[in-house]
Amino acid sequence: MPRLAPERRDAPKSAQAQNRKSARKRKATAVLDRPALPPGWQSSDEHEVALRRWRGRTEILSVKAVEADRPYFGTFRTQSASGGSYEVEIRSLTESTNSCGCIDYRVNGLGTCKHIEGTIAAMARGRAKSFRAAKAAGSSRVEVFLDRRASSVPAVTWPAESPGRNFKSVREWLAPYLAANGTLTHSPEQIESLIAAWETAPARIRTVLRVSRYFTPWLDRLRRERQRVETRAAFEAEVKAGRETLDIVKHPLLPYKGEWRPCTIQKANKIACFRNPLFPRNAVGKRLGNMACGIQ
Ligand SMILES: [Zn+2]
Repeated sequence: MPRLAPERRDAPKSAQAQNRKSARKRKATAVLDRPALPPGWQSSDEHEVALRRWRGRTEILSVKAVEADRPYFGTFRTQSASGGSYEVEIRSLTESTNSCGCIDYRVNGLGTCKHIEGTIAAMARGRAKSFRAAKAAGSSRVEVFLDRRASSVPAVTWPAESPGRNFKSVREWLAPYLAANGTLTHSPEQIESLIAAWETAPARIRTVLRVSRYFTPWLDRLRRERQRVETRAAFEAEVKAGRETLDIVKHPLLPYKGEWRPCTIQKANKIACFRNPLFPRNAVGKRLGNMACGIQ
């Protein structure tokens, strides 16, 4: 299994070969401890997390610390056997509040993935005492991130304060983005503004406050959704004003086709999207001789 190593762009070839060799050996022996599949189609979060832990142990070839001075609660670059490389942000060793740039992490609602699990397994290897101490102490930074457990919600976590350590200045800096109960704003516009402000924040703030880089896909998705709603509203207003028409299908519909509505995104191509499950969108696209919409 790989051990955590500081990042080196020019790792010696012999070390890489050694990594590959140990990965092959690990893969061969780990097949036996793969979590058993649950019966039928049923699966639980526990099983899905166990599967990712197993994949993290067996499929991650190397883990390198990007922030050399942060061996536990920092950013790490992982390399998997399939050739994929992702950066993960570790901010907790007890809760699933870490982040990764992979698709699985983004969609599974578990708050973890094989890259995160592989990173944690690698950092624990060969230094159990230090790992236990880090686990108990937690991250020393204030962390602003997107909590992907169950749903995607912006969140902030604070390290424990002690006589010599308080976060008054960060609290003041973050105040415009915090609700009265201390929770972080859920507004994408506010989060965008927070990220922009953090980019130019003074060093004394940036060293104790980490803002996750993985807000971007969430912000992009919300922006697209907002754009879609605005486009639709604009089109419906045009129809209401008599400047646009819903009469965009050349042939009359059969009764079973039921209710339909125009797709505002692809209206320029005169494509209609049908909501009737008996009349799938793809089939509509083909029968009308147009590309399928697939948006609504
Ligand atoms: Zn991942």
